[in-house]
Amino acid sequence: MTELTERDVLDALATVIDRERCQDVVTLGMVKGLRIQDGHVMFALEVEASRGPRLEPLRKEAEEVVHKLKGVVTARAMLTAERPASTGGPAAPRRSAGAPQRQAPMHGELLPEVKAIVAVASGKGGVGKSTTAVNLAVALARQGHRTGLLDADVYGPSMRRLLGIAGNPGSSDGVRLDAMERFGIKAMSMAFLVEEETPIVWRGPMVQSALEQMMRDVAWGALDVLVVDMPPGTGDTQLTMAQRVPLAGAVIVSTPQDIALIDARKGLNMFRKVDVPVLGIIENMSYFICPHCQGRTDIFGHGGAEEEAQRLGVDFLGGIPLDVAIRETSDGGTPIVVADPDGEHAKAYLGIASRVWERVEAVIAGRAASAPRIVIQ
Ligand code: ADP
Repeated sequence: MTELTERDVLDALATVIDRERCQDVVTLGMVKGLRIQDGHVMFALEVEASRGPRLEPLRKEAEEVVHKLKGVVTARAMLTAERPASTGGPAAPRRSAGAPQRQAPMHGELLPEVKAIVAVASGKGGVGKSTTAVNLAVALARQGHRTGLLDADVYGPSMRRLLGIAGNPGSSDGVRLDAMERFGIKAMSMAFLVEEETPIVWRGPMVQSALEQMMRDVAWGALDVLVVDMPPGTGDTQLTMAQRVPLAGAVIVSTPQDIALIDARKGLNMFRKVDVPVLGIIENMSYFICPHCQGRTDIFGHGGAEEEAQRLGVDFLGGIPLDVAIRETSDGGTPIVVADPDGEHAKAYLGIASRVWERVEAVIAGRAASAPRIVIQ
């Protein structure tokens, strides 16, 4: 099958006419921030803020023509406006009018009150990365660290479901959004900003910089650690994010199958390529706990991941079993570390959190000893 290209998407969008201007959206230069990832297409249509509310049919049409293309799984279009509208509008991060667009932000500039940013990544989707990120964040908070959780998966944000958060963030200072708070952590996700099916006029920078915006335009307050749930996979998007986000380090979530196979290695190499320390591997769905007899089965043998991690030259941070209780609590909006705080699983996550924190502290100490690393995009 030939792969879907930007050209295919732009050709399709060239049939969408902005009737107020009698030309197609491509010719008018309205299409911005086009991203294609594993059949998921996302782009913005840049419009004047004043026209935003009446251009919903145009947005829908653009989404529909792209969705019809062969190889497209989902298509998502957003309306964006460079300048803030003068009145009302949906909750979205905003910047002060006329503020210069900053580029290549440094850690200090972007999140001055955050001591360390830790990425949770995986070589591919469906390995339990988000579940792990949430439980890790809650475990770090339980250990007394001021913790934030940033959902960097703008294609498939999952934090509303995993944290059971309803509503939208407010803004105490009228400039930045307040992070949502739940289970002792602060959280931000595109899911809190963009409702399914609801059109939004995105103010300020393009969708492309949504992640940066969620850091810069959100009042996180002072944090010891910000856990970033990265998008799955190791494509260009992830690479760009790894470069743009000033990371203290990354943890790779992997299942026993893909530790043995190639995916975890891809994840590792991606971070090594951009000089981000890999803090270690977490093995998820490591062994099976029978819901009937509570017996443990090492489906893939025992100790394989640890050995493999050693072979790859990374630390093994611990294993989490495949247990229906983890799935149910996670998908039910109360992570297991909260739902069963004294249980075995909570202990496993707390152990991993301690090991992650030890390594983060070592990185911070190392940084203090040398000049701070400047992240160039
Ligand atoms: P990813 O972020 O890698 O795509 P998710 O965290 O969304 O993965 O997990 C995928 C599915 O697997 C979810 O339904 C989640 O509840 C479930 N899951 C994750 N980890 C476990 C586990 N250790 N035991 C049982 N189910 C799990």
